[in-house]
Amino acid sequence: MHELAIAQDIMDTVLAERRSRRLGAVRAIYVTAAAMSCIQPEALKSAFELLAERSELEGVRLEIAKLPMVAICDRCGALFDPRAVAQVCPTCGEGRLNFSGETEIIIDSLEVEENA
Ligand SMILES: [Zn+2]
Repeated sequence: MHELAIAQDIMDTVLAERRSRRLGAVRAIYVTAAAMSCIQPEALKSAFELLAERSELEGVRLEIAKLPMVAICDRCGALFDPRAVAQVCPTCGEGRLNFSGETEIIIDSLEVEENA
């Protein structure tokens, strides 16, 4: 299951970060999923809860935001919604576009308790 692997990735990253920065208990994890990824936020949350059970991340809130889909024109760099304009740059008419979101998921921030 795709979401399970991603949830495992998030956990590993957060635990490593917590250790290296000597952070207090984690309360919430904020992540952003790329628009092009096929992540189902609800499935990812369930997978995370399952993995976090009986670990030091049990009960941690996972907040998932999804980026809007954005295309970037190869020629002029304009950003636009590729669903609205038939895959052609609305500024210069260029047909070669890049799509944002090669990375499926980004950990934005952690909410942690202050160290006593
Ligand atoms: Zn353009």
